[in-house]
Amino acid sequence: MDTQKGTSAAEGWAEKDRRYVWHAMSRVNPGSGQASPTMMVEEGSGAWISDAEGNRYLDGMSGLWCVNVGYGREELAKAAYDQLVKLPYYPLTMSHRPAVELAEKLNEWLDDEYVIYYSNSGSEANEVAFKVARQFHDQNGEPGRHKFVSRYRAYHGNTMGSLAATGQAQRKFRYEPLAPGFLHVPPPDRYRCAYCSDRPACNLECAREIERTIQWELPETVAGVIMEPMITGGGILIPPDGYVEEVARICERTGALLIVDEVICGFGRTGKKFGHQHYGIKPDIVTMAKGITSAYLPLSATAVKRDLFERFMDAEEYAHFRHVNTFGGNPTACAVAIRNLQIMEDEDLPERAAAMGQKLMEGLSELRDHPNVGQLRGKGLLAGIELVEDKETKAPAAADKVAKVISGCKERGLIVGKNGDTVAGFNNVVTLAPPLVVTDEDLEFIVQTIRESVNGL
Ligand code: PMP
Repeated sequence: MDTQKGTSAAEGWAEKDRRYVWHAMSRVNPGSGQASPTMMVEEGSGAWISDAEGNRYLDGMSGLWCVNVGYGREELAKAAYDQLVKLPYYPLTMSHRPAVELAEKLNEWLDDEYVIYYSNSGSEANEVAFKVARQFHDQNGEPGRHKFVSRYRAYHGNTMGSLAATGQAQRKFRYEPLAPGFLHVPPPDRYRCAYCSDRPACNLECAREIERTIQWELPETVAGVIMEPMITGGGILIPPDGYVEEVARICERTGALLIVDEVICGFGRTGKKFGHQHYGIKPDIVTMAKGITSAYLPLSATAVKRDLFERFMDAEEYAHFRHVNTFGGNPTACAVAIRNLQIMEDEDLPERAAAMGQKLMEGLSELRDHPNVGQLRGKGLLAGIELVEDKETKAPAAADKVAKVISGCKERGLIVGKNGDTVAGFNNVVTLAPPLVVTDEDLEFIVQTIRESVNGL
């Protein structure tokens, strides 16, 4: 491979990239048949990455919200190497030590008894959750329970079931019909809430909508509710006080299983080990991916409460979970995950994310007075800045304004993301989810860069 830095080498690779690589979420440039230009990323260290031309950027999105312990961790490379030489692969139709050790460690992190089913991606982890939930009800004497309730704006994955659970129509358009049986309700979005944004306080009507939907559908047809503790990909929606607890109570009242998608919120991102731990709830199923290995290798997990798992121990022929995944729980990925969690514990990264998140919010708080900043939201090292044209009407900022902030950040050396209620035509929330290892200096740089970029509007 050509490791030479410099514009001409970079151009060579970029040209081949345009020719051979089909990128995620990028439009093809009409006329040329080529994808729009991409950045060739070469290496990383801590919260920083650099491109083939030698430009450095602070990665304010941790890749896709996932490089929680930061780049360049030799301990993780070493853990992978050691496991690769010892045993690179064996399927979990048998067992191996890394899978067992990681499952035990995840139980510690979850603070309750769960049985762990491994896959490779967040989407697959959610598919497992849906299949486990349906089969559980079937074997528990309620075979009619097959529907799932989720929230508009939430993202749950790219496969036919997890995409059906996703509440973002623009990602489903042209791929339907998806898996049937998925219903959606409005998200908790205090800023633009259909029920209470014109009232002095939240009345939790958005949570009650989940209960009404379950009742209208008949509880005996509903298998579960899936939610992220905080909606991330739909524009960083931090639920109002009492919402998550109320959804947990609704699940208990109606017999629907509570599936919590911790794919982004897990592994310290929001200032706790898992996002749902802010609310003291015990989900029936927890799905996780991304930060489990800090994305050094693909791995995901579906943690299922032991009492649900026990329904799968029946002697009846089809009672066991008939779902197999070739790569799921790969020993090398598990070994990296174990080492990754060790780093998080040694460096107190969840607590650190809480403290640094507080500083980040304080640093950004003066932006609240900016005429184009509608709302500033965050929890731990997860933050969103909702840009508007007009604070009174809350009309979303025009696309070119949002683009100006994002390119302003990039020109100054900071990568940020963008999201929002894209179905309503809003893509106006600038998002931040930097590695949990950001230093005070890094944080100061993020705050300064965002301030300058927003103030440049
Ligand atoms: N759930 C959530 C909350 C996610 O953010 C994502 C990915 N961004 C997924 C599930 C799907 O994960 P993957 O891309 O690994 O399939």
